[in-house]
Amino acid sequence: MAGFVTRFAPSPTGPLHLGHAYSAILGHDMARAAGGQFLLRMEDTDLQRSKPEWKAAIIADLKWLGLTWDGPILEQSAHIPTYAARLETLAARDLLYPCSCTRGDIRAALSAPQEGVAHQVYPGTCRHRPMSSRQPGDALRLDLAKALAVLDPARLTYLETGPAHVGLHQIDPEAAQRSIGDIVLHRKDEDIVAYFLASAFDDADQGISHVIRGEDLFEFTAIQVILQHLLGLPTPIYHHHRLIRDEEGKRLAKRDDARALSKYRAEGATPADIRRILGL
Ligand code: GLU
Repeated sequence: MAGFVTRFAPSPTGPLHLGHAYSAILGHDMARAAGGQFLLRMEDTDLQRSKPEWKAAIIADLKWLGLTWDGPILEQSAHIPTYAARLETLAARDLLYPCSCTRGDIRAALSAPQEGVAHQVYPGTCRHRPMSSRQPGDALRLDLAKALAVLDPARLTYLETGPAHVGLHQIDPEAAQRSIGDIVLHRKDEDIVAYFLASAFDDADQGISHVIRGEDLFEFTAIQVILQHLLGLPTPIYHHHRLIRDEEGKRLAKRDDARALSKYRAEGATPADIRRILGL
């Protein structure tokens, strides 16, 4: 049996809060219990929002929690040209098209989801455009209907071990078209690749056997599995864990730093206190 390899993959656009700590500790402990590997990856493909000081703060927080990771930290920002080049194989198969729709819409679609912000399904305005009409400011979108047509729907499955969705999942191509649509994969002028694309490449390259992450990312699994099939990458096992919420039941977000780990540290909490608060 292949070994257990998982990763913690924060986007360094803000401080780690209790929800991130839960994710990191859970992945770390599961890997250690399995005698496997726990890897650290900085998902910093958004060069405007990612900051070196957040990376340093994340590393300091993880070390303070007593977590250790195997091997060097993978920084996605160093690989953007590689992701973009690998994406071109889909263009060569006529599965992408250039899109000039608004930058704001596209930017929002490229970052990890936020609660309450619904994923906008693209209406297909630019779908008729051939790759040869690509202009410097255009983004590249996946033609999802065409992509699904080249895949065997029976093989679009993945195993989920997280409590809310445990079992074998079958991706329904029609539901995927309704809920995901033609997603943006690359924005050339700002050189941003979609987080779920870079993440799919890295999960494969790093030999990730188990993706352990928050429930908020569950809805992105279907598109990642579709991308894995299109790109000939393996599909890991997914484990989406519960979200840590504040007293009002709201999901913790990067922008409210009330639950930032650094705040607990400053107030004298110990790593054991953090585990206790998180029920770990
Ligand atoms: N970088 C993503 C985030 O911080 C996590 C992606 C993943 O674990 O697959 O929300």
